[in-house]
Amino acid sequence: MQQITILGSTGSIGVSTLDVLARHPDRYAVYALTAQQRVEELAQQCIRHAPKIAVVGTAEAAQTLKGLLAAHGLQTRVEYGEAALCAVSSAAECDAVMAAIVGAAGLAPTLAAAHAGKKILLANKEALVMSGPLLMQAVEVSGAVLMPIDSEHNAIFQCMPSDYRRSPEQCGIEKILLTASGGPFLHREVDTLDRVTPAEAVAHPNWSMGRKISVDSATMMNKGLEVIEAHWLFNLPAERIEVVIHPQSVIHSMVSYVDGSMLAQLGNPDMRTPIAHALAYPERIVSGVGGVDLTAIGKLAFERPDLQRFPCLKLAYDALNAGGSAPAILNAANEIAVQAFLDGRIGFRMIDQLIARVLNALPSCPIANIDAVFEQDRCARDLALSFIES
Ligand code: NAD
Ligand code: MG
Repeated sequence: MQQITILGSTGSIGVSTLDVLARHPDRYAVYALTAQQRVEELAQQCIRHAPKIAVVGTAEAAQTLKGLLAAHGLQTRVEYGEAALCAVSSAAECDAVMAAIVGAAGLAPTLAAAHAGKKILLANKEALVMSGPLLMQAVEVSGAVLMPIDSEHNAIFQCMPSDYRRSPEQCGIEKILLTASGGPFLHREVDTLDRVTPAEAVAHPNWSMGRKISVDSATMMNKGLEVIEAHWLFNLPAERIEVVIHPQSVIHSMVSYVDGSMLAQLGNPDMRTPIAHALAYPERIVSGVGGVDLTAIGKLAFERPDLQRFPCLKLAYDALNAGGSAPAILNAANEIAVQAFLDGRIGFRMIDQLIARVLNALPSCPIANIDAVFEQDRCARDLALSFIES
């Protein structure tokens, strides 16, 4: 019986993870669930899955949750704050951690799981973008196991030989191809993009996801973050990580080998597939997702991304090539810009302009430790906010 912590259990990935776990009560038990604000939903999850611990964002939320759980006679212990998130990610009783908090807030507990040698199911790509070398080093030192949940990276993992981290050359890997749906604005007139609303931006054509990643998909910053994520996970330089637009989201990514072979993983666009894969690996378990009906889909299309339409993709490649603190700065500026767009404070096209301004103003510097990452993150956020205000 594996004991699982789900960081961000009320989110899109968290809910999908609980759905998969509930199909296998003989294999998995829920050790801890965490949520920032949505206490009512977390209470329902606690009643259904009976975790040992539940963690929320504030003392006030913890009081509310305690009240809701007491009314049901539940034994779940309630805690709050970042230290509690790190504790449930590194506890001796916990076997695996689903890292599904959105944004930089997920970094500290993910790193705690890495230092504690846990099996980490990584959905929180921002953690790896911010602190790639530090997180990978923590995994290596502790013997933690890092399994990609992002559908593209999970697909690549499935198409890679088992010893892929040894050396891409020795494995005959030429390059990897990350597929991207292109989001809701793939074919919209570029000069109308400054008028799109948050509701239009979060209406993804194929995937149902949280609001932040949905906006990232509309700007294609999501793919940019995924290029950086792939660089750290698969030990490949930027020029061997290619992005290809594939509007149907059936092929989740591909690996191209030196002998001319290309391996792809296909599936319906439902995150329960990569979640079930990563949970049970190397075994296969039922996820609740049906197989792909190729004749119903009929055609698969591919096109090159247009960097005029999607400048965020280029910003991410540039940040990866600049190295050091640049990816952390890119990520922080993006988080601020996306929130400002969702709050109606800036237009859609201001997102990439704001990130570019922050990157220009804060030159990349080497990152020696995690405190330096958080310091760069804070500087980039402050600067992005001051640009928005001015
Ligand atoms: P979401 O917004 O639906 O859920 C986010 C979760 O994080 C919630 O449970 C929320 O309570 C928690 N949270 C938010 N802010 C927090 C904070 N400051 N401190 C602690 N907890 C906090 O997001 P999502 O779509 O489930 O995405 C989660 C992560 O998974 C993101 O990093 C995203 O990029 C990645 N991801 C998501 C998908 C998807 O299909 N949704 C696919 C690939 C990768
Ligand atoms: Mg993805």
